[in-house]
Amino acid sequence: MTRFLAEINRLAEKHPVSVMEVCGTHTVAVHRSGLLGLLPENLRLISGPGCPVCVTAEDDIYRFCLLSRRKDVIITTFGDLIRVPAGDFSLEKERSAGADIRVVYSPADALLIAENNPDRKVIFLGVGFETTVAPIAATILEAEARQRRNFFVLPVLKTIPVVMDVLLQSPKVKIDGFLCPGHVSTIIGAEPYRFIPEKYLRPAVITGFSPEDILEGLLLILRQIDEGKPTVEIQYRRAVSPEGNRKAQELMNCVFQPAEANWRGLGKIPGTGLVLRERFREFDAELFPIGEKPVFKRSSLCRCGEVLTGVIRPDQCRQFGKNCTPEKPLGPCMVSSEGACAAVFRYGGASGGVASAGRHRV
Ligand code: SF4
Repeated sequence: MTRFLAEINRLAEKHPVSVMEVCGTHTVAVHRSGLLGLLPENLRLISGPGCPVCVTAEDDIYRFCLLSRRKDVIITTFGDLIRVPAGDFSLEKERSAGADIRVVYSPADALLIAENNPDRKVIFLGVGFETTVAPIAATILEAEARQRRNFFVLPVLKTIPVVMDVLLQSPKVKIDGFLCPGHVSTIIGAEPYRFIPEKYLRPAVITGFSPEDILEGLLLILRQIDEGKPTVEIQYRRAVSPEGNRKAQELMNCVFQPAEANWRGLGKIPGTGLVLRERFREFDAELFPIGEKPVFKRSSLCRCGEVLTGVIRPDQCRQFGKNCTPEKPLGPCMVSSEGACAAVFRYGGASGGVASAGRHRV
């Protein structure tokens, strides 16, 4: 660590930089480890849209809530989603009001619930990035093989590389390099990040999650900047290969096709979502009719959208730590264990934000 830090300090002195990570596990790792306190001021680390629960749009949370009101359904979901508010709505409130909403640890658990409840429609809320897509695809293929007709997926899945392109075009945030997500990259490999050095002349380093990994990832970024040779590098070599996991990619492509996705803070972005292919439409909960639509007013207090895009730091939100805490969260960035607001609240070290365009030019 000391060896990495000495060189990071030296290079950051020459090249003040803003580096963005787009992975909830990185967000937690940098805060929990106290790494931020060791980094030089000239190296600004920004948390981007890397927490899948956090980037889920309020409109989608509202949709989940309305769907849960159908008497013939069981909603199955990963736990973090339950407490995410959308205006006055949340799955937690719906469950208190009688909706059948169950926390599962995998889509396979949801399929099991469908088998045990053949007279109910069991919907799995498909929220996640590339890492989550492959197991969902495998479960849908399993449901097809077992002719399990009461199992459905509501795909609100998102893919990462295109959104990095959108962020690089934003005038609000200056990004000099990316720490690319380790888990997502085990699936997609290195190639999808190639546009970062080629189109934007910025480094992209696929990085692991220990403090040493993260420091080495930052050092590789600084070295590329210093040498004027931006490229895609893999620091997390013990888990990521250049071509990624071909089997998982085949599974994803067999079941899903690219579509538009609605991102909190970024809006609708073509090519960053996934929908079921025609062959699997019978498992698609997207077209389930939902009854009455009560008035829905989006939260005006929560600034998660700006936190997720690095425009502000969590502690620059006026609600942070006052009206918004992990016990009483106003937004998903404080709900999710991978959210930037929760990470700063729990471990301190306000990173990122206010990395406005024009500053820290390399
Ligand atoms: Fe939203 Fe709370 Fe974070 Fe503010 S501190 S952006 S209200 S989650």
